[in-house]
Amino acid sequence: MNIEYSHKEAFVFKKIAAAAAEIGVPAYIIGGFVRDKILGRPTKDADIVCVGDGIALAHAVAKRFQPEPTVAFFKHFGTAQIKIDDWEIEFVGARKESYRHESRNPEVEPGTIEDDQNRRDFTINAMAISLNQADYGTLIDPFNGLVDLSNKLIQTPLDPLTTFSDDPLRMMRAIRFASQLQFTIAPVTLQAIQDNAHRIKIITQERITDEFNKILLSKKPSVGLDLLYKTGLMKLIFPAMVDLAGAEYIDGHGHKDNFYHTLQVVDNIAPTTNDLWLRWAALLHDIGKPATKRFENGHGWTFHGHEVVGGRMVPKIFTKWRLSLHEPMRFVRKMVELHLRPISLTKENITDSAIRRLLFDAGEDIENLMLLCEADITSKNKQKVKRYLENFELVRQRLKEVEEKDKIRNWQPPITGELIMEVFGLPPSKPVGDLKTRIREAILDGIISNDYDAAYQYMLEQAASMGLEKRN
Ligand code: ATP
Ligand code: MG
Repeated sequence: MNIEYSHKEAFVFKKIAAAAAEIGVPAYIIGGFVRDKILGRPTKDADIVCVGDGIALAHAVAKRFQPEPTVAFFKHFGTAQIKIDDWEIEFVGARKESYRHESRNPEVEPGTIEDDQNRRDFTINAMAISLNQADYGTLIDPFNGLVDLSNKLIQTPLDPLTTFSDDPLRMMRAIRFASQLQFTIAPVTLQAIQDNAHRIKIITQERITDEFNKILLSKKPSVGLDLLYKTGLMKLIFPAMVDLAGAEYIDGHGHKDNFYHTLQVVDNIAPTTNDLWLRWAALLHDIGKPATKRFENGHGWTFHGHEVVGGRMVPKIFTKWRLSLHEPMRFVRKMVELHLRPISLTKENITDSAIRRLLFDAGEDIENLMLLCEADITSKNKQKVKRYLENFELVRQRLKEVEEKDKIRNWQPPITGELIMEVFGLPPSKPVGDLKTRIREAILDGIISNDYDAAYQYMLEQAASMGLEKRN
């Protein structure tokens, strides 16, 4: 096995080897770094396991660098970390683990390199490279991880039922790796996930969310999302997604399967953005459909208001998933609520004011909204897809023209609430808001022009009709 290190990697590993020899502990590079190197993927942090005290090794390594990096260590876990530039290197002593049923945190005792490889989750994550003088650079691969890498296969080193029952987070990890690497999960391993799905309940939401986000950020998220669905995990961690699945028929009228439609939309948006929140928006855009589904005689299936109902579900979902309730939630909710608007602008004879309104409502998120709408086209009919995309292209052009003319994006109406309060001697109150809204609407509708004088004049007229008197 010939692994190509960068200069920096080769330099650092030599230093670790020298430090390990000096203090007399065998050391190995292990896990994700080895896997990604062999795959030729970009590598991140490197994990070093040693047969002995990982913290002591980290200190011995740090001493060999100028300037000496800080060793961050956790005595309780026996782990230590140093940073060389922005590259993180983790040190830990080899360990043997035993599990109790109610927790994914095992009893740990010092062990051999074999013990440490036995506790790893997948064969492709259990490979180690020796940093020892006798066999420097040798791949130690007791479970044929190399073969599985070339067969693109994910399977556990030991009995999968025990592996997943011990630490159910590994089920999420298996699916996450399948999605990230576009690998297949071995049938026995997949069956064991199905059989152990209920065990996911002992895993904290934060860990589940972490893995789920990695699935969403993978190149083809539908791989992972579909596996979550088929193994029964989705039903447990995200029942509202499963409610989207299936198509009902009445009088021969069916509707599309909104779960698979959603997966397609997430896949469609993936090449255009690595923004986690835009991907979440794609995932949730139709989440209100099950709650709004109706069959209307003579019409077929409708989902009226699903964007509003879906928008209202977003804060609840974000709370449960421990996602940020600030900007990300606001953004996703807005995307869900607005996701039908650009479609309505593909009709003929759309006025400037309709375009202005969308620019005003979407603000800086207009481009993301357009990406979502384009991803939302999932017809199998290529002609149709082409036509829809062309229609959106026209909408984009109109958006650009109106924006250039009116600068409505991120626009604030020229008359503020403070001004209204001052002119009419009002406290903060409903009439102030009403008057402000009337002025804004008049500008968006093109009734008055977008400037201070016109807006001021209009304010006076409207105030009079509302019975408000100007203060002297
Ligand atoms: P990435 O860093 O790209 O997410 P990784 O494989 O490096 O992937 P980490 O979470 O960094 O994943 O874990 C490092 C290594 O530790 C893994 O390669 C695996 O050998 C082991 N490992 C991590 N989590 C578990 C687990 N839950 N059960 C068993 N082994 C695990
Ligand atoms: Mg890692």
